[in-house]
Amino acid sequence: MGKLLIVGTMAFDAIETPFGKTDKILGGAATFIGLAASQFNVSSAIVSVVGGDFPQEYLDLFKERQIDISGVEIIPDGKTFFWSGRYHNDMNTRDTLSTELNVLGDFNPRVPDNFLNADILMLGNLHPDVQSKVLDQMNTKPSLVILDTMNFWMEHTLNELHDILKHIDVITINDEEARQLTNEYSLVVAARKIQEMGPRYVVIKKGEHGALLFHDDNVFFAPALPLEEVFDPTGAGDTFAGGFAGYLAKTNDVSFDNMKNAVIYGSTLASFCVEKFGTERMVELTGDEVYQRLQEFKNLTQFEIELS
Ligand code: AMP
Repeated sequence: MGKLLIVGTMAFDAIETPFGKTDKILGGAATFIGLAASQFNVSSAIVSVVGGDFPQEYLDLFKERQIDISGVEIIPDGKTFFWSGRYHNDMNTRDTLSTELNVLGDFNPRVPDNFLNADILMLGNLHPDVQSKVLDQMNTKPSLVILDTMNFWMEHTLNELHDILKHIDVITINDEEARQLTNEYSLVVAARKIQEMGPRYVVIKKGEHGALLFHDDNVFFAPALPLEEVFDPTGAGDTFAGGFAGYLAKTNDVSFDNMKNAVIYGSTLASFCVEKFGTERMVELTGDEVYQRLQEFKNLTQFEIELS
């Protein structure tokens, strides 16, 4: 079993979907990644920053799941990162209403000593310079460095993003962002162009239309499980990344074949995340439920066909 180090935001989110609206609730990329990865009982730690307004009960949530939060800096007189977004009726697209960086503005990440040799490094959605600072601190080269990012960083810090892309192995990105980064409509061409920027593996998330994994000339596709209820897609991408990274850390095998399974685990966990607002569903999720849904996933995608 490998060690997993996670970097990303811990946040307050305010979300509007066609089904309802929340005030400030627990969110953030590292939050969703950590909760998803905790399903694999791997040794994991989060590097992040919060303000004095971040409730102790949220911090306890991570501790209860054996996630090391000694790398989460608390700035007593600072305010926690805040994001608010509104989903369109299709639930696949959203508008960001506000992004307040607050304590994230001058965050100087520090990796806990016992994670300087982590096997899998999951650089969650964050300023690319912060992602770089974490990568630079590692004592030993991780077996896999995975990076997630979003349009916000492409718009504000494109050069810095290009710099770190040269040093990572896997990027997880959604379809619109892949197009934005490459100016290509075809996701196949976009994935090839992204590979030329650095990452040997490119995962393109397509929301309710599943996820694609590209490596050299190989492509693997996993559909998203058709769900009766999609309540709030916030965090689905991060949950996918957490499932992907958590599975790879647990199995300690970063081959393309094993990454296919990691994509299936990521998709399965993301299918739970969207069923309730914020982190609610991920917090109550049990191993049995995950097992059952993996079975459904298998039934959905397996078929016998004679090729002559
Ligand atoms: P996802 O739905 O997977 O794209 O992730 C949503 C989460 O990302 C929310 O919980 C937000 O707090 C967080 N988030 C939103 N904007 C940013 C940003 N610019 N940088 C880092 N995290 C963000």
